[in-house]
Amino acid sequence: DAGGVPSPVQEMLDELHTRVRDVDAGEVATYIPALGKADPALFGLALATQDGHVYTAGDADTGFTIQSVSKPFVYALALHDRGLNAVLRRVGVEPTGEGFDALRLEAGTGRPLNPMVNAGAVVTASLVDGDDHGQRFQRIIDGLSAFAGRELRLDHEVLASEERTGDHNRALGYLLRNAGALRGDVNEAVGVYFRQCSIVVTARDLAVMAVTLAAGGVNPVTGRRVVGADTCEHVLAVMATSGTYDFAGEWLLRTGLPAKSGVSGGLVAALPSQLGIGVYSPPLDRRGTSVRAIAACQELSARFGLHLMRPA
Ligand code: GLU
Repeated sequence: DAGGVPSPVQEMLDELHTRVRDVDAGEVATYIPALGKADPALFGLALATQDGHVYTAGDADTGFTIQSVSKPFVYALALHDRGLNAVLRRVGVEPTGEGFDALRLEAGTGRPLNPMVNAGAVVTASLVDGDDHGQRFQRIIDGLSAFAGRELRLDHEVLASEERTGDHNRALGYLLRNAGALRGDVNEAVGVYFRQCSIVVTARDLAVMAVTLAAGGVNPVTGRRVVGADTCEHVLAVMATSGTYDFAGEWLLRTGLPAKSGVSGGLVAALPSQLGIGVYSPPLDRRGTSVRAIAACQELSARFGLHLMRPA
């Protein structure tokens, strides 16, 4: 807001928020019991620009656990720490056309298909720098904090709930170890992933994290470099093809934006060299994407002409 003059971006965001707030569809996820307590009416919207302006509407400062929205950022850290080829040898980049928790590995290689599904995220978390699981988790929370531009913390109640009900992810861990895709103790490796999912963020944080990827790895609010530009290019490409699981094709068709959804109702979307969007609204559609996030991003994309494939 420049000297009290309302910005057109802020007005547009407020107006969009008011309209999309009334969308009343979807279900709050309950398979992690602590997530089921979320208020379905919560709706935060944030947009961060490459020059470091952050616009927000609604519940943009409400904390929630990041869940699968952590995956592209941890993938960025792994790429930064290991290099593209070393990471590619361990985690593929093909869309699955299946849900987030599919029990399927790539035929022939035994790799998880991509880093945006749980199997790939567990392996990806094992690839960031660190001598043990504790150090690797520290690298992850420090890295995500650098993307957000503030020190992030864990939600211990959600973490405990996630650990109590996490046998499907443990099963994925054993499948991965059996295929030679994961080494060492399965519970410890999956434990790092559970903790990564239980990091608390806001829609504002997600917008800043997304614009840091869009800006080539420098957080435009703090001015701090988090990862390199090549890494951002690679992460955004995988978000475009696999960020919303079995909805990735229609998502890209409708919004034209690389994005990542999460089961708590968070979503990030990014337009390279321009902006990042963060949304929080707990009710999900059947493929695990926040219903209001889909509506908001589709409208933002149409209104501002953000679709990446749009001819100039
Ligand atoms: N922690 C969740 C799980 O692994 C994340 C899933 C998601 O956000 O899609 O079940």
